[in-house]
Amino acid sequence: MAGPAAGATMTPETGQQRSVYRSILIVGGGIAGITAAVEAAEAGYDVTIIEKEPYLGGRVVQLYKYFPKLCPPYCGMEINFRRIKDNPQIRFHTMAEVESISGRPGNFDVAVRLNPRYVNDRCTACNACVAVCPSERPNAFNFGMGKTKAIYLAHEMAFPMKYAIDASACRLTECAKCVEVCEYGAIDLTMQPQTMTLKVGAVIIATGWKPYDASRIDNLGFGKYPDVITNVMMERLAAPNGPTKGKILRPSNGQEVQSAVFIQCAGSRDVSHLGYCSGICCLASLKEATYLRERNPNARAHIFYIDLRTPGTYEFFSQKVLKDDHITVTKGKVAKITEDPAMGRLIVEAEDILSADKTRLPVDLVVLASGMVSNLADGKMAGAVALDKDHFVVQAESGEGIFAAGCAKGPFDVATSVQDATAAAAQAIEAIHTAGRR
Ligand SMILES: Cc1cc2nc3c(=O)[nH]c(=O)nc-3n(C[C@H](O)[C@H](O)[C@H](O)COP(=O)(O)OP(=O)(O)OC[C@H]3O[C@@H](n4cnc5c(N)ncnc54)[C@H](O)[C@@H]3O)c2cc1C
Repeated sequence: MAGPAAGATMTPETGQQRSVYRSILIVGGGIAGITAAVEAAEAGYDVTIIEKEPYLGGRVVQLYKYFPKLCPPYCGMEINFRRIKDNPQIRFHTMAEVESISGRPGNFDVAVRLNPRYVNDRCTACNACVAVCPSERPNAFNFGMGKTKAIYLAHEMAFPMKYAIDASACRLTECAKCVEVCEYGAIDLTMQPQTMTLKVGAVIIATGWKPYDASRIDNLGFGKYPDVITNVMMERLAAPNGPTKGKILRPSNGQEVQSAVFIQCAGSRDVSHLGYCSGICCLASLKEATYLRERNPNARAHIFYIDLRTPGTYEFFSQKVLKDDHITVTKGKVAKITEDPAMGRLIVEAEDILSADKTRLPVDLVVLASGMVSNLADGKMAGAVALDKDHFVVQAESGEGIFAAGCAKGPFDVATSVQDATAAAAQAIEAIHTAGRR
């Protein structure tokens, strides 16, 4: 399938003509990719977003609330989705990945793999298919908490509002119960991967982050005790569209959480894991402590930290949260987590650095503030993209006409990712202009 030729202009170059495409490829449809897309499209450029998941929005749509204002991320995201829907200059492909990028500023050739969704645009999200589907898979959107059927809608607000089938959990044509029940002819179990080619003038890499794998930290009990969870799981537990419909319950027994310990730098600032600070984990734990207090006015939250890092005006957010006398902090490193079977609670053993006391705290829930890892760590990115030792993009060493935005460059908050994406859109536009003048 040919890519968008719209926007191509012929430019004199030593007596020859060559095409400069007024179009931009954006790899990754999180907040950074979406911001870059709407900024560039509203400036008059054709934009194509390539997103590997079945929905746009990235990690932000998995959060319950945003610090510092504690508003739901979906408010702002809905406005962006409306800007995408209303702008014919933006195209997007979900379940898609870039296979190759070649060329030069103004004229790149891109090959994109479109993975089969097995569900077409006729899907009305009526849910009849889910009711008859016999197969299950772990709910990836909820970080494995709960299950979905093999045919699923990633979450209630998913954009596009279209089901997808996880082929690894489905017998496809050997079962086909979903096809029989779908009144709209929306399911095609014979769909195959396709390759699409695009011509673009510039590329923006906005591939974002994934959570550090907490099961690699051997002293903090993740994977051993069900009541040890990670910060991203806490976002889903508190979310009304999460596995417990927003009730913060102990995974082990479903009882309401009365006390939680948050462990900062779980696998961060540690050469055996992530050597760097993700910069947002302290703020995320302070925010998540307010989730617990909002749900249960009697609950207590305790944060163990090495340094409580709340830079700039985020300091005011920290001060506001810590006015709550049910939220307390200790400067100290947690040595280990064990379980007291008689009490049915976790025991957090830590050292209070300031008093030199050792503490043994029984709690219902432990939340590990694990850090952010570049999605480029899996080594799959195509094109001339230079990475640092932690797999974040080094803009200055990447190819001309290829820019990065948001957490592809480092662990950032949303405000920084949005600013950075706006700058990347401007740089991409400038690169196309410059190519047109050469
Ligand atoms: C626990 C926690 C809580 C947080 N809470 C807040 C908060 O309250 N406020 C705040 O400001 N920040 C918060 N953050 C930070 C916030 O999540 C990031 O700033 C934000 O997600 C960055 O957006 P992004 O678009 O750069 O990356 P992402 O959100 O990761 O989006 C990247 C997108 O690219 C896609 N992608 C990846 N690789 C490919 C590929 N090869 N091809 C195609 N698509 C690809 C991904 O599927 C994803 O959709 C929090 C972070 C954590 C860990």
